[in-house]
Amino acid sequence: MLIKEHLHKIKQSLSDKVILVAVTKTKSNADIMKAYDAGHRDFGENKIQEMVRKYEELPKDIRWHMIGHVQRNKVKYMAPFVHLIHAVDSLKLLKEINKQAKKHQRVINCLLQARIAQEETKFGMPFNEIDTLIKSTELPDLQNIKITGLMGMASFTDDKKQLRKEFKSLSDFFKNLVKSQNKTESKIGDAPSSLQHNLKLTILSMGMSADYLIAVEEGSTMVRVGSAIFGLRNYI
Ligand SMILES: *Cc1c(COP(=O)(O)O)cnc(C)c1O
Repeated sequence: MLIKEHLHKIKQSLSDKVILVAVTKTKSNADIMKAYDAGHRDFGENKIQEMVRKYEELPKDIRWHMIGHVQRNKVKYMAPFVHLIHAVDSLKLLKEINKQAKKHQRVINCLLQARIAQEETKFGMPFNEIDTLIKSTELPDLQNIKITGLMGMASFTDDKKQLRKEFKSLSDFFKNLVKSQNKTESKIGDAPSSLQHNLKLTILSMGMSADYLIAVEEGSTMVRVGSAIFGLRNYI
């Protein structure tokens, strides 16, 4: 099957409310253009250098998603154009993104990465750390970032029950945050500083080629799909 057909089939399996990020890491510009010519505009990369190169070479109306782990010293390279950073895992990183965004007079949208997988991983924050971060008194000062949601990656397993459990745990946590956010917003007479103006949770990014249908059933609003569209990669 062709890239265009894969893309079409996956889009058909998703409701209009779910955003499909086509993950293009290791893939050629020619392959990306096949999806682009089919009308797709949201593309994801996990390495900053590769994303910058593709940004420079490809049409400028592409929305570039940084889905991989971000090193602070590389934020500056993507700050001029990145559409959404999916894997923010510390206040320190958020501050660097804010600093670089400011230089370009932009507001950069960010998702906080939650740690939901069973296996040992250094990436992502436990739920209590996310809680602490969004309540931080330093957050309102960051005028050039906006936290628009959460992201999570499930365990590398075929165990559907386990995958569902992990997605559900993140989805429940997300829904509770949204609920308390809406409560705070509707309270009249709140001091403005108690409202995190740069916290507007609407996106839940979870699900990849092997598990996106389960993720969507559990409440995902954004899926990151690579190999199911472009075929297997030569390296990870
Ligand atoms: C590579 C990658 C994906 C897509 O993986 P596929 O299994 O090819 O769909 C999704 N999310 C992240 C963070 C990735 O690094």
